[in-house]
Amino acid sequence: TLLPTFRNWSRYIQKGDTVLAFMSPSNMDHFVVTESGNFNNAYGKFEHAKMVGKEWGSKMPSTTGKGFIYLMYPSPELWTLALPHRTQILYMPDIAFVSSFLELKPGVKMIESGTGSGSFSHSIARTIAPTGHLYTFEYSQDRYQKAAAEFKDHGLGDLITIQCRDVCKNGFDMENAVTAVFLDLPSPWEAIPSAKKAFKKKRVGRLCSFSPCVEQVIKTCTALKEQGFVDIRMYETLLKPYEFRSLTMKPLPQPRLAPTPTIKVEPSISSTTAPDQNGEGSNKRKRLSKDESGVESESKDGSGEVYAPKDVVVTKGASEMRAHTSYLTFATLLPDIS
Ligand code: SAM
Repeated sequence: TLLPTFRNWSRYIQKGDTVLAFMSPSNMDHFVVTESGNFNNAYGKFEHAKMVGKEWGSKMPSTTGKGFIYLMYPSPELWTLALPHRTQILYMPDIAFVSSFLELKPGVKMIESGTGSGSFSHSIARTIAPTGHLYTFEYSQDRYQKAAAEFKDHGLGDLITIQCRDVCKNGFDMENAVTAVFLDLPSPWEAIPSAKKAFKKKRVGRLCSFSPCVEQVIKTCTALKEQGFVDIRMYETLLKPYEFRSLTMKPLPQPRLAPTPTIKVEPSISSTTAPDQNGEGSNKRKRLSKDESGVESESKDGSGEVYAPKDVVVTKGASEMRAHTSYLTFATLLPDIS
């Protein structure tokens, strides 16, 4: 059966939907809603039947009231955090960066290898839908079967074609078909000549290779150069978490300004301001504007603090960044204009 969840968002949970049970950002699980099933965890039992008709994102208490879960829609972002791991996977910071640099958008046809746990495949499917296509290749028979079943169950069968194939030994066997290629393989350089053939001849082609070691990056760059790719660049995505808090700032004491020297104004024939007894007609106006501007005004306690305490949001970057995942090597294949 094709489940609606991953393809068509609707406001309310229906039978057959995949629900992401959110306990905390580091504790999520997933299940398919059935007629009489239950989801059980340390907080108790959650009956599927009571979930039907609830709005996505609802908070649901367990039958004992010991705890609760949030019933979340399985977006690719949440799926990446909750999916069954069969391999190491790509996470959102890299997925976002790669998707942007490969210029993925609705209608794009692209290649991915290996499929692994299908983390990136789910994001790709959403980005290229409804008219694009993902050709994904995985050489492990077991992972291929699991990913194929998952894509079908998630209603992504018409967007993703998966093949069980060693792309380094046997290539992709595609020609003039795609505008983007993503490689997450131990020896990506072996797949590059075949990837080149798969690019559309009359379009700009973009390739990205995801490798943890710089030795792999060097071999990949050499192969890319030999195959005529240009604009070869390598990036690393590192996350620096920022902690933010609201603080009440104590005002700084205002510096006292020296009083402006009094200027004596001589009465002149054209002056319309009649001098007072001290001959200070114009100066009075000057002192008044000084008072109005508040420059010389003082606080009541005489400390010189003239502004009220203020709440401000401040941030502090973590001193350590999350560890290295992989290097992202990008390259461009220019169209054949002959
Ligand atoms: N990017 C995937 C994700 O986000 O879930 C994870 C990919 S995983 C790290 C690498 C996968 O490549 C593994 O499943 C492995 O079996 C597959 N693989 C390795 N060499 C391969 C080859 N020559 N042909 C096809 N697949 C290969």
